[in-house]
Amino acid sequence: MNPERRATPSNATLIKVSRADPKATRKSAFVFGLLMCLSLVSPAAAWGAANKSVHSWAVRWEPAHLVNGSPLLLKVKSPTRLESLSGKWMEHDVFFSFDPQTKLWFAIAGVSLETRPGKYSLTLSGKTAQGNEILFQRQITIAKGKYRRIAVSVAKQFTEPSPEQLSQIKQEQELKKDVFSRMNPKRQWQGSFVAPVSASISDVFGTARVFNGETQSMHQGLDYAVPSGTAVSALNRGIVLLARPLFFEGNCVVLDHGQGLLSLYMHLSKLEVKEGDQIAKGQEIALSGGTGRATGPHLHIAVRWQGIYVNPATLLSLKLP
Ligand SMILES: [Zn+2]
Repeated sequence: MNPERRATPSNATLIKVSRADPKATRKSAFVFGLLMCLSLVSPAAAWGAANKSVHSWAVRWEPAHLVNGSPLLLKVKSPTRLESLSGKWMEHDVFFSFDPQTKLWFAIAGVSLETRPGKYSLTLSGKTAQGNEILFQRQITIAKGKYRRIAVSVAKQFTEPSPEQLSQIKQEQELKKDVFSRMNPKRQWQGSFVAPVSASISDVFGTARVFNGETQSMHQGLDYAVPSGTAVSALNRGIVLLARPLFFEGNCVVLDHGQGLLSLYMHLSKLEVKEGDQIAKGQEIALSGGTGRATGPHLHIAVRWQGIYVNPATLLSLKLP
């Protein structure tokens, strides 16, 4: 490492410019200008490609303003008829279904809470009837989510678990790892997701509990203020992946909506389904309660998409085909 070069960045820049091929510089300036023009005519929330032509790709997403921690609905118009469409998004596989009514391909994806603001690539791969593969790439902008921060004066005190409880916690970690790693590529969900209870929300997704400037915990779900014994219904059609008591979650139900999308219901007083059951959207699955590590009776729900927690309220607000 040469400290002098580090100390004089302007000199280094000068050398670089003088050595550069003037033709290449003009070319890159032209490409840059072209990219700028393209970005000007394609605002983030609008159709991703020229929508005048019927022979071009177009990508749209909801919510239009995307933030970290958000699920998203992707809608794709392909330039030609496709047999299938798949995508890559932040190293996740995205599974698309075709809606014959709108002639659009649609899929649910997600952005983790840890994702930094910026532009991220969605890569699409379509298979035509002739077996050809056609590709498309689109940048999607992720903004910073506005999540609440609550200052806590003292760190949350947990009573020390006993050795038996510790071994139970460890076993359950393995169980959850197994349950969460399962992926059913077949879509179970159909249409919009529905609220599990009709009650007011007592804590939103993403609330950070901060102690001495450091985030102690992040609320990765949505809390409903309901008394014990309130009927809890399924957010959408799915298969019961897990229905049993757990140390922290209390009586817990996990529904698999397919394609990596899961919904979780915690602190229940009574389970009304068993693992493997096929569940209809809105079907009663349990009664709410305050089991597990809960401060009092309430319903905590969470939504996972391929290993990341996303905002259930956003998912509930999406109008899905
Ligand atoms: Zn909660």
